[in-house]
Amino acid sequence: MVRPTPQLLRQLRVFITPLQPPVFSFERSIRSSPLRILVSVLLSARTKDQVTEQAASRLFAAADTAATIAALGAERIATLIFPVGFYRQKARQVVGLCQRVAAAGRVPDTMEALLALPGIGPKSANLVLAQAFAVPTIAVDTHVFRISRRLGWARGTTPAAVEDELKRLFPPAHWSELNQTLVGFGQTVCTPRHPHCRACLLARRCPAAGEFLKKSATK
Ligand code: SF4
Repeated sequence: MVRPTPQLLRQLRVFITPLQPPVFSFERSIRSSPLRILVSVLLSARTKDQVTEQAASRLFAAADTAATIAALGAERIATLIFPVGFYRQKARQVVGLCQRVAAAGRVPDTMEALLALPGIGPKSANLVLAQAFAVPTIAVDTHVFRISRRLGWARGTTPAAVEDELKRLFPPAHWSELNQTLVGFGQTVCTPRHPHCRACLLARRCPAAGEFLKKSATK
């Protein structure tokens, strides 16, 4: 197992920064307001970060408050956010979500209130809490789930179980950076199907490396 430490997270971040993981520029682009973070997170489900970033930019160029975005209507929003995955469904969710935020006067800052919004599940709520309100959370998406298991940090078979295991391994101050670092690592090095183990700084310590290196040697 690769020892899970904050220092390791820092090393990974330094290692992948020159590879320009899309998640880094995506997260820079959405930092402008809690509303932009919330809407971008909703759009990002099953969509590449670059596509989400461009879709959110088009949407926020057309309207930039919850009330004015809701007033655009689902059809216009669908045109603006295309080609994000499930863009028609997400356009309707953006309208519903912005109506609620406009009525409340602000983006909610609790897990319970975020989960009550259309299109927002636990992973998305964790991301919003971390990005918009600096609440220590670990959003377990497909990259975090896969890499945590490859590195021997987690055995859980659900995102919630993996989140619990990771929370026991890392101090709360590092929970939020864990998501961004592992997502970036998963986009550039420890990719889903053919991880770049030969070029990986963890290859000598990673329990999964042997299997992948054997597979690539037989090709
Ligand atoms: S050695 Fe391979 S499987 Fe292990 S973390 Fe690196 S890229 Fe992923």
